[in-house]
Amino acid sequence: MREVIERAEKLKTLGEVASSIAHEVRNPLTAVQGFLQLMKASIIEGTNQKYLQIALDELARAEAVIHEYLNFSKPKLMKYDQISLTHLMENIQLILTPIASPRSIRLVIHVRQNILIFADLKQLQQALVNLIKNAIEASRDQSVVLVELSQLECHAEIRIRDKGKGMTPGEIQRIGTLFYTTKENGTGLGATVALRIIEAMKGNVHFESEVGKGTVCIIKLPLEPVS
Ligand code: ADP
Ligand code: MG
Repeated sequence: MREVIERAEKLKTLGEVASSIAHEVRNPLTAVQGFLQLMKASIIEGTNQKYLQIALDELARAEAVIHEYLNFSKPKLMKYDQISLTHLMENIQLILTPIASPRSIRLVIHVRQNILIFADLKQLQQALVNLIKNAIEASRDQSVVLVELSQLECHAEIRIRDKGKGMTPGEIQRIGTLFYTTKENGTGLGATVALRIIEAMKGNVHFESEVGKGTVCIIKLPLEPVS
């Protein structure tokens, strides 16, 4: 069964929820960070120094995750710059290597031409990383996730194809619902954030999927900002 479902606006409350979670989690993290720094300053050398540094690095990582996923408290203005989609995809390939490589999944990029687009680099990168990460996570070991970039008249189109577990029409419909996840350690935030970013850029996302065969995620983005 093949389903095409247009993404719509499900995300009205995301801002409010995200802002309170970000706030509640950030405060204790900042406190822990402060105490660890105090401890680090009072210890001279040795193993504990190393452990403290690891703890501080991991805290910084947690802070980055909050920043990436939950920094949507205020309807943030997009910071539009001209960027090359090809270049952005190469960057994303690097970012996702630690997730794809251990499972021997190849992330392949097909580009017909260099596509220049006005977009908020960081936010678009976040959206694409979240969607491609989902494709990798749905895939079997040793398979390929293909990302195709093409330029239509005044749109760029990004297709993310996986040969993974696929989704039922009901499951497709639930993507983008806050905290919806079918994974043991999932957050149910990645797709929600991605869809929100792409919709803010006046683009849209469709999913075509077949259970047991795989999924294509089709992202359309205007080449120029639309007001
Ligand atoms: P998470 O990845 O933490 O579960 P997401 O919001 O990123 O949360 O995704 C929500 C759910 O959508 C996933 O748990 C999964 O069930 C489904 N999903 C998203 N992309 C795909 C895909 N390419 N193939 C199969 N299922 C997918
Ligand atoms: Mg995800």
